[in-house]
Amino acid sequence: MLRLKSLVGGRWVEGQGAHAALVNPTTEEPVAEASTAGIDMGEALAFATERGGPALRAMTFAERGELLRAASKAVHAAREELIEIGIANAGNTRGDAKFDVDGASGTLMAYADLGKELGDASYFAEGEPIAFGRSSRLSGQHVLVPREGVAVHVNAFNFPAWGLAEKLAGAWLAGVPVIAKPATATAWMTARLVERLDEAKILPPGALSLLVGSAGDLLARLGPQDALAFTGGSATGTKLRGGDNMLSMAVRVNVEADSLNAAVLGPDVTRGSETYELFLADVVRDATQKAGQKCTAIRRVLVPAAMLGAVREDLADRLSSIVVGDPSSDTTQTGPVATRDQLRDVRAGIDKLASAGSVEVVVGGSSRPKLDAALGDRGFFVAPTLLLAKAARAAGAVHDHEVFGPSTTLMPYDGTAADAVGIVRLGQGGLVTSVYTDDKAWAKAAALGLAPHHGRVYIGSAKMAGASLGPGTVLPQMVHGGPGRAGGGEELGGLRGLSLYLQRTAIQGYGPLVDGLVAGAKRV
Ligand code: NAP
Repeated sequence: MLRLKSLVGGRWVEGQGAHAALVNPTTEEPVAEASTAGIDMGEALAFATERGGPALRAMTFAERGELLRAASKAVHAAREELIEIGIANAGNTRGDAKFDVDGASGTLMAYADLGKELGDASYFAEGEPIAFGRSSRLSGQHVLVPREGVAVHVNAFNFPAWGLAEKLAGAWLAGVPVIAKPATATAWMTARLVERLDEAKILPPGALSLLVGSAGDLLARLGPQDALAFTGGSATGTKLRGGDNMLSMAVRVNVEADSLNAAVLGPDVTRGSETYELFLADVVRDATQKAGQKCTAIRRVLVPAAMLGAVREDLADRLSSIVVGDPSSDTTQTGPVATRDQLRDVRAGIDKLASAGSVEVVVGGSSRPKLDAALGDRGFFVAPTLLLAKAARAAGAVHDHEVFGPSTTLMPYDGTAADAVGIVRLGQGGLVTSVYTDDKAWAKAAALGLAPHHGRVYIGSAKMAGASLGPGTVLPQMVHGGPGRAGGGEELGGLRGLSLYLQRTAIQGYGPLVDGLVAGAKRV
């Protein structure tokens, strides 16, 4: 059995005692095991702080960019191997795994280019100097400097490559070392990716550590210069940000959590139009890609009441024809969900949503789908599921419970932007909502009404249909995160993604001295 190792204190180490099993979600057979028992988290933290931090801070932005470029290339070089691991350990189809691995290398490369643009500086001057009084004798200047702690990155199971990279990119470019803790169930891909970075000999000692298994007492050890970036369920996020030291030491915390993302069909869109086809394709992709286990997946679909019948028929048609099965087969479109716990939660979640009086199952549901006989009764499979909520505002858990699987709920609204926004808002803060329309005034009303409640609003229309990436793709240039239920966090968004790791400080004093102090800084 493959025993995954952690990278701490500059060494690959095996945990002790009982190991957690990582399984193949198609066959339910174990593929690897992991443990962090016996690892000294204090030593891991000290090594990253004392070796990784100074090494990264001594580098210019351009040099950190080159580190990210080398990391991106190493991930790309490992692509085939990582894809195979995604199929074997995460239930990914080849396409799903490519999406994860290419997302990782693409994000690292985007931040590498950003580093190149920032050049030879290693910290920022923010805004122009501010003179106090009539002369320039006394002035002030905001600077943004790397904090001297460690960035702990706790990630969810669904993107073992991209999840690591999207957090790593901002921290490294800011000049802060990382201790990454992927979700144990799918940690094999992350572990192999970090091994490949190590084998490529690009890592300054301590710049990246890895824990495969429990975080032990690491989080309880974090102090005033450290940061925690967490991605996962809301309940876990709430618990982790509430730790005593997190509160008393004001450890910076960024949470990316649950989201009941929506897609809204505008009242101007007719069946069969280009915009309508884009809308259908996005909903179907999000319900099926990675078996619906994407934080940005469309969970609620709002259509004008007059279009309910047509959309129901078209979505039912497409979702019922999706081939569910062994993700290693080229003909499979949706593989299993990642773990037995996921299977239990997704099935229970579908039943919970369907238990509201006005909600019915149109396609799929919580029972095991029809599968190739060769699979027997093994594997964590869920059928792509379409629910219908006839009364959107009385849909109960549909607006309150994220089913993290291949499930989405269709519901009507009255065609006005105000009604659509009012219904979407019931989700209490989300990552992304997409609207599909070619009516500029309606798009503006909907987008600006949705904006306070989301990190991102995506407008699908005929003019961009051919170039559309869909609302589910997180871009390094744009912010990822959302208010409320989504955790209140913000990642990526170009330079914005560095802010968790930088200290903003107002420097005040004699004008020429203050000016001299920021002479080597990059002004932003
Ligand atoms: P999870 O159960 O909350 O776990 C997330 C991570 O937290 C895992 O690495 C887990 O480690 C770790 N963890 C759990 N308890 C911990 C503790 N006491 N101390 C330290 N670490 C702890 O979530 P998941 O099942 O992996 O992911 C699914 C959820 O993530 C969904 O709700 C989804 O919406 C959300 N998600 C959000 C985004 C976003 O960007 N907003 C992206 C992806 C997923 P172990 O695996 O070792 O338990």
